Amino acid sequence: MNHQDESCCAGAVDTSRRTMLTSTLGAAAFTVIGGASWLLPGLAQAAALTKDQRDAMTPDQVVAMLKDGNQRFRAGKMQGHDYLAQKRASVAGQYPAAVILGCIDSRAPTEIILDTGIGETFTGRVAGNIANDDLLGSLEFACALAGAKVVLVMGHTACGAIKGAIDGAKLGNLTGLLDKIRPAVDATQFSGERSSKNDAFVDAVAATNVRHTVDEIRRRSDVLAGLEKDGKIKIVGSMYHLMGGEVQFYA
Ligand SMILES: [Zn+2]
Repeated sequence: MNHQDESCCAGAVDTSRRTMLTSTLGAAAFTVIGGASWLLPGLAQAAALTKDQRDAMTPDQVVAMLKDGNQRFRAGKMQGHDYLAQKRASVAGQYPAAVILGCIDSRAPTEIILDTGIGETFTGRVAGNIANDDLLGSLEFACALAGAKVVLVMGHTACGAIKGAIDGAKLGNLTGLLDKIRPAVDATQFSGERSSKNDAFVDAVAATNVRHTVDEIRRRSDVLAGLEKDGKIKIVGSMYHLMGGEVQFYA
């Protein structure tokens, strides 16, 4: 049984949900509730996280859960999510373990590449995964009020927003957004062509930008910095590699 199974559904018994949850007794042991049919490990993820399950996890365990999910994605062994069951299970309340701040890029859908289901992660997506006041407010809501344990900033390779910032592109409201990425362009140490046509430079800037966003979160959110200082949450940077599908965690 993988970590996700253990952390998500182990031992959870809630007859009101009329769903099937795996037990803690081992890979082969199952509890069937409400007459649901037999399911195999990895075949269907029918439950959403409960409050007890989420609260029992440390920030490090949540990071491990996300890493395991990405491992499954890369291996093509994702959970067969029963989204309708997850939807039913989470109607009365949500207890997500993490909040992901990612890019809008259509190739970087966080729930898919981390193999998480309904009710398991908050997600904020904005071009170039930057932090502005409203996103910081969203992250604060997710952690301070809704109990998420990890803020995961996720950049990705070949990011169009990063290329736009390198090029100094101007377009309507996009100009102001790209201005927020520009400091990462200037701060990136790189020997070679500093051009949006140079993939290595684009990805180096994306990595700097993730670190800048993590720093911005700590610097501009006393709420989140305080929670991290108290060990209640972790703020972690990461990079999703389009080629290969790995999410590289910076911590
Ligand atoms: Zn992007």
